[in-house]
Amino acid sequence: LPQVVKSARVMKKAVAYLLPYIEAEKDENTRAKGKILMATVKGDVHDIGKNIVGVVLQCNNFEVVDLGVMVPAQKILDAAKEHKVDIIGLSGLITPSLDEMAHLAKEMQREGFDLPLLIGGATTSRVHTAVKIEPGYHGTTVYVKDASRAVGVAQNLVSEDHKAPYVEEIKAEYEKVRAMHAGKQRKTEWLTLRHARANKINIDWDNYTPPVPKNWGITVYDDFSLEELRDYIDWTPFFKTWELAGSYPKILDDKIVGKHARELFDDAQNMLQQIIDEKWLQAKAVFAVFPANQVNDDDIELYANEDRSEVLTTLHHLRQQNQKPPGRPNQCLADFVAPKDTGLKDYIGAFAVTAGIGIDEHVQRFEADHDDYHSIMLKALADRLAEAFAERLHEIVRKEHWGYSSDEILDNRALIKEQYKGIRPAPGYPACPEHTEKALLWELIDPVTNAGISLTEHFAMLPTAAVSGWYFSHPESKYFGVGKINRDQVEDYARRKGMTLEEAERWLSAVLGYNPAESKVAVG
Ligand code: SAH
Repeated sequence: LPQVVKSARVMKKAVAYLLPYIEAEKDENTRAKGKILMATVKGDVHDIGKNIVGVVLQCNNFEVVDLGVMVPAQKILDAAKEHKVDIIGLSGLITPSLDEMAHLAKEMQREGFDLPLLIGGATTSRVHTAVKIEPGYHGTTVYVKDASRAVGVAQNLVSEDHKAPYVEEIKAEYEKVRAMHAGKQRKTEWLTLRHARANKINIDWDNYTPPVPKNWGITVYDDFSLEELRDYIDWTPFFKTWELAGSYPKILDDKIVGKHARELFDDAQNMLQQIIDEKWLQAKAVFAVFPANQVNDDDIELYANEDRSEVLTTLHHLRQQNQKPPGRPNQCLADFVAPKDTGLKDYIGAFAVTAGIGIDEHVQRFEADHDDYHSIMLKALADRLAEAFAERLHEIVRKEHWGYSSDEILDNRALIKEQYKGIRPAPGYPACPEHTEKALLWELIDPVTNAGISLTEHFAMLPTAAVSGWYFSHPESKYFGVGKINRDQVEDYARRKGMTLEEAERWLSAVLGYNPAESKVAVG
């Protein structure tokens, strides 16, 4: 993949040069195989993966109309008509985009579209595409797992000979996926929310003293040293971005991809050095630790001061609701904070970091030069620096500001393996999958003013190279996935958050273990 993207620059420059002549001739031989519209849906900023797919398609003689990120449904449909495209490709990174894609499919149906629809991006899946998107649209909908598959799928869809059998095959496959999914749903053993709460993790609060933060108040880093962050980078996800499988550093000596991994890594090191020397990027962060206690089983109350008389805000969490094997708890993040009725004075942290300030100017410079390789490389490195900053800041907080691990000594590998005390779960991720909670985080520490990070209407962060989340200090706190939840928890969550049931179902749709349209089943 890196090789393809790298070569694209030559191809694109040649095309740009030849375009006037091609336009003049316009014969059979110079026509593209097909025209594909690509867009990241409304509220989402997913970019790297979409761009890689675009480049790969172009390298295979498809014409790509790229509408960019945060594109509303109507704009996508209007552009599809205007450019007379053959295929529409949607991408998204965060779970609210799943609903947005299903909505777009329904709009295509309503407006009488017939074009094939491609679905891709981190939270999309074959099951979601088959269950939630495809049934809403009579045209063909195909889930595209990664960039390397995009060409095959697109070629089948524009081929006069192969299209019909391919479409048949996909439809039959998705029918099966739906049947299997429905079977699995029927078999799921749910606990009522009440029973799930009764099976919470058993933390011995009687013999526990929460660590008291050494520093109070909001701390801001306005221009954190990139040189310092470099040592905190976790390189494995970098190779994954480029669809090279394997973990760092072993991947550099891999029999199959080793040579390409090395080249890619060398290019990355060179650019990283330039980013640091020429200050292409600025890293900003904000964090604070607040007095906090668990309330209402699954919520966390934050206080304005140590006497805990004034409530700042209440965070809402979700609890695993599937039947667990004996001895395994039904987890919820709120369980890691001392309950209010213990009388213990516990705390929770909030943070937001970015390494993407200033990136646009350099991305535009590369794009103007048709240089996708370096534009994607820069975005991938900014993402790495942001994650590295999240790691470094967490360390600073553990060792200095909150100071509960002042004697911790861990190297880069131990940090990547999370061998420290405490976690930093990020809203939208598996332990706290509901994105609107980010609004509370933003009210608490104001990352817009303090770190230059804003939220889209679907709670994606801008710049994209950003991480935000909560700090938990309890030694037993661990990451987990909430998984699917049932109707009674959605109702309870809606009540606790002051949302309507419809709103709650919408924001929780990626974790609903039932179909809101059908389920009237009482759980028990
Ligand atoms: N070292 C990796 C970290 C990837 S996970 C990297 O550099 O890419 C990115 C972030 O997601 C973590 O720092 C943490 O904030 C959050 N996270 C990971 N697993 C989670 C889970 N199960 N629930 C909530 N947040 C999680």
